[in-house]
Amino acid sequence: MVKTGQVQLGDHTWSHLLLTRLSDSAIEEEPQRNHDFIASTYGVDARPCYRPPYGYHDARVAAARVGYTTPVLWYGSLADSGPLSSNRIVSLGRRWFLPAHLVIGHANHPGTIGALPRLHRILEQRHLGTFTLHVVFTSARR
Ligand SMILES: [Zn+2]
Repeated sequence: MVKTGQVQLGDHTWSHLLLTRLSDSAIEEEPQRNHDFIASTYGVDARPCYRPPYGYHDARVAAARVGYTTPVLWYGSLADSGPLSSNRIVSLGRRWFLPAHLVIGHANHPGTIGALPRLHRILEQRHLGTFTLHVVFTSARR
């Protein structure tokens, strides 16, 4: 899916810690360790996009010299980082799937997987789509 451009990998750090509370060296170690994992496991370079855990970032995080220069924040969430019913996730999709909204979701619980067909219908009904960050933040085409 990565090779065909359907999915883009980004860095979300190794331990999901609050980067703004870490030492300068730990700020660099967290995304670097995840970067190395992504590169060795999937064979891709995920730079420059990263999502700082919980959205917290500052000048020290931005200055980290690991090549992740594009923090990705969001406006809308499916709130599915833990177990949530498919109906609740679909309800949040109805709330947040709007033009120019970057909505975060997870795919590691059954509720999300069960919600996917209905989430897809919401996107279709609203004439919206899904895009990789590369497409959103560059002039690249889908
Ligand atoms: Zn997270």
